[in-house]
Amino acid sequence: MVEEQECLDLRHSNVHFKDEVVQAAGGETLTRCFGCGICTGCCPVSEMDSRFRPSSIIQMILLGQKDELLKSPVIWYCWQCYSCSFHCPQGVKFASVIRVLRYMAVDEGFVSAELMEKARDIEEEIRKIRTRVLDLFFERYKKSGSVPGDVAQLCKKCFEGE
Ligand code: SF4
Ligand code: SF4
Repeated sequence: MVEEQECLDLRHSNVHFKDEVVQAAGGETLTRCFGCGICTGCCPVSEMDSRFRPSSIIQMILLGQKDELLKSPVIWYCWQCYSCSFHCPQGVKFASVIRVLRYMAVDEGFVSAELMEKARDIEEEIRKIRTRVLDLFFERYKKSGSVPGDVAQLCKKCFEGE
């Protein structure tokens, strides 16, 4: 999941990391995860970029890979579309968990001013995409009378500008 790294080095795990995330607002549901991988399967970003895997990020938190995760750019890849949160059988709110990681990364000095600037631009683009996804979602709902099931495909369509 983390770029240019094939396996995790567990010798320097931070055993408190998981508790820090769970105690932060938004991280409370983390420990319900049983590792099924559905969140990764329904994530539009994972579909386009295999470096981003919500289930692997959760495993890294549980394994105490704090520094590796907070300095990794992948925590900024999420679009906050909530597809993972809707589909998780355990009610894990991964979109909120990733926000906890972002706040921690900023608070603890893992993010440079340059990256913060880029993150702001990305957030603005994401906001536009989210608006397009919602428009498309309600347009389809009005046409068919039923809730569109494939949120990931809607997100992908909007991201690709279709
Ligand atoms: S879908 Fe939920 S339970 Fe399954 S891996 Fe993702 S967060 Fe964990
Ligand atoms: S909120 Fe959307 S983009 Fe972010 S991890 Fe969940 S499914 Fe992927």
